[in-house]
Amino acid sequence: MNAIHQLDTFLSNKIAAGEVVERPASVVKELVENAVDAGSAQIRIDTAEGGLAKIRVLDDGGGITSEDIALAFSRHATSKIFADEDLFRIKTLGFRGEALPSIASVAKVTLRTSTGEKDGEEVFIEGGEIRERKTAALRRGTEITVTDLFYNTPARLKYLKTVHTELGHISDAVNRIALAHPEIAFTLTHNEKTLLQTAGNGDIARVIAAIYGTSIGRKLLNIEAEDLDFQVTGYIAKPEVTRANRNYMTTIINGRFVKNYALYKAVQDGFHTLLPIGKFPLVVLHIEMNPLLVDVNVHPSKLEVRISKEKALQDLVKKAIQERLQKERLIPEAETPH
Ligand code: ADP
Ligand code: MG
Repeated sequence: MNAIHQLDTFLSNKIAAGEVVERPASVVKELVENAVDAGSAQIRIDTAEGGLAKIRVLDDGGGITSEDIALAFSRHATSKIFADEDLFRIKTLGFRGEALPSIASVAKVTLRTSTGEKDGEEVFIEGGEIRERKTAALRRGTEITVTDLFYNTPARLKYLKTVHTELGHISDAVNRIALAHPEIAFTLTHNEKTLLQTAGNGDIARVIAAIYGTSIGRKLLNIEAEDLDFQVTGYIAKPEVTRANRNYMTTIINGRFVKNYALYKAVQDGFHTLLPIGKFPLVVLHIEMNPLLVDVNVHPSKLEVRISKEKALQDLVKKAIQERLQKERLIPEAETPH
């Protein structure tokens, strides 16, 4: 056996990238989440060849200062949490400080950023290191271009599916963030064709229509409910709209898309017998709660969360959907299940 030694930074970032950067859609998700955290009003995502040839995310958020650029690409460096206790009151999508160093360890990255106060900067990163750096006259915001994804991880490159499949994952990732943030105008293009455009006027129903089509947009019922801990808003499509899987139940907690079976079950229970067996509804629910009640630090992807008072939240969601369907006379009141 060899003596134990500390892994060098590039290698340890590459190992972390295995978890954070599974496929092109993971890069898109991380870059777009950073753009959301930066307080952007508009975010544009341009992709080519399923994200393998190019992913570019452009935002009009706060930008990165010249001093912080190198730090942004080093591991466990973040501007989003400071102390221990912050981990329990997370309001941003990011906080682990892993995305940029991970992406930069498995792809070539060009960063153009400006805080709007003075000239911006353009930086080229390869092999995890800054290779070129120059000032550039830029508007406030950040543009990150990722090319040659997985050029130095042949196994990961081989595992990727077709352009079509990778694009599907990218679309899903952007759709979820757009549904979670109707106040931001999103544009997604692939090979120069526009796939999604949202208005950024805060109207969730319009984002739903932009993603699922105007005929779904006409079959939406709004949901509103709250108790002391939780506030639920959003839309359900009328029960005549059914889907073959759970992917059309979008649940968002404090601006973050999450997968949570307790919530899915509460939604389905709310529809009760109106859904045929094996069919699932289309819903988009925004749930706001004190960040203390939700642990997002369960997995690097932050898709799974642990909710305190989960049962109370389930009851609230189920009841809100039931009552809305009753109001619409889709469930007769007498038959209300208890
Ligand atoms: P995290 O999001 O967990 O903090 P990242 O590696 O994704 O970690 O990003 C590192 C840091 O770089 C962020 O904390 C933020 O300060 C800065 N940053 C990244 N992307 C942007 C952006 N689009 N606009 C402004 N700052 C950004
Ligand atoms: Mg991030």
